[in-house]
Amino acid sequence: MSEKKSKGQERYDALAYEKKNYFETASEEERRAMFAYAEGYKAFLNEAKTEREACAAAVRMARERGFTEYRFGDSLAAGDKKYFVNRGKSVVVFRVGTRNLEEDGLRIIASHIDAPRVDVKQNPLYEEAGMCFLKTHYYGGLKKYQWTAIPLALHGVVVRKDGSKVELRVGEAPDDPVFYIDDLLPHLGSEQMAGKAAKLIEGEQLNIVVGGMPCTDEKVKNKIKYTVLDYLDQKYGMCEEDFLSAELCAVPAFSARDVGFDRALIGSYGHDDRVCAYPALTAVLEEESAHTVLAMLVDKEEIGSEGNTGMQCKIYEDLMEEICLAMGANFRKVRFASKCLSSDVTAAYDPNFASVYERMNAALLSCGTCMSKFTGSRGKSGSNDANAEFVGEVRRMFAAEGVVWQTAELGKVDAGGGGTVAKFLANLNIDTVDLGVPVISMHAPWELISKADLYSNYRAFLAFMK
Ligand code: MN
Ligand code: MN
Repeated sequence: MSEKKSKGQERYDALAYEKKNYFETASEEERRAMFAYAEGYKAFLNEAKTEREACAAAVRMARERGFTEYRFGDSLAAGDKKYFVNRGKSVVVFRVGTRNLEEDGLRIIASHIDAPRVDVKQNPLYEEAGMCFLKTHYYGGLKKYQWTAIPLALHGVVVRKDGSKVELRVGEAPDDPVFYIDDLLPHLGSEQMAGKAAKLIEGEQLNIVVGGMPCTDEKVKNKIKYTVLDYLDQKYGMCEEDFLSAELCAVPAFSARDVGFDRALIGSYGHDDRVCAYPALTAVLEEESAHTVLAMLVDKEEIGSEGNTGMQCKIYEDLMEEICLAMGANFRKVRFASKCLSSDVTAAYDPNFASVYERMNAALLSCGTCMSKFTGSRGKSGSNDANAEFVGEVRRMFAAEGVVWQTAELGKVDAGGGGTVAKFLANLNIDTVDLGVPVISMHAPWELISKADLYSNYRAFLAFMK
């Protein structure tokens, strides 16, 4: 039995704001929905470990839902369900709505499908001391020492001399071999352990073990390298020179799995940013909308959104303009009326590293998807600082649909910082704010998220599309 509240207590409760744990406030039915939704997400994670694979998975899912490919110049009409692929590495899935584009604008959810990893160099292959290695150059901001002594899978494409392309995906099937970056044994590690963590493993030490079997021909100089080259030729029809035009990368060979006795959490490689890309994709695929809605799944965010598959490329602006042209709308007017959720992960408050967070303004695990009014570092440098009016509008959208969500910034004011694709969309004169799932151990080979936050993110996108 609860005691009757005092007048002051009642008034305090009405005025004060407190974050709530979504698991705690969710109905039994909603909890079941969270867990069911997480199953589809884990399958996506395991299917899509690189941007190419995520792009292919998104296209497959879109086609299964009756979406068809769009090319510049195609005609469009209200009700059309389309996807647009950029070089096999990024994809925009969109629905054409019934509302007037110039008045209503576009509703955009932008997230990225690349993730930190270890890329193979262009002249990678050598043997030494009973092992054959691939030299690498890491991609994105990672703690190099975390990528040693774990099973790795090799994913990617090789463009052969004749221009034909072959795909590799080794280390994911249960009976596949895996690959390995070695670390020093602690017995000889006293000097290594006394140094700075950034130098524990140097970039040039991230060499991947890919073989150890010498051929029997006495005359061959590099016997293990020969065995590997022979295998690559037999299996993929490639020679050493074909590495020159290859994009191969090592990713953790782990699968996504439930974490904890209660299975509330999910551990996986690449939550950043598939935990936003998957909800964006499923929201647009599954729900009709009166608005014209776009889920943009882009590449190269981890290295600054550069290149012609990253968010800074004109192709996304061109696509939006093409949609406007096809619908007879003025692109400049449409941009003015458009709204965007820049959907990327944020750091979840980690009690084991409390000193870098400011608890009141840190994202708390399971308290829902997290809005960051601004990102950046130091004095908000490099940030899209969203307007209060737009934040207020999104807040009302979420309230109308009962979305459990929170706000946060990455860490303490002077602790560091980060940024994502928001500013590039805002530069187009589109109201934009960051929204995404809090992650523990971001950029580690295996990151942690909450099923409640994943589902909250999905619910938030549905509310945004309403
Ligand atoms: Mn990200
Ligand atoms: Mn990232």
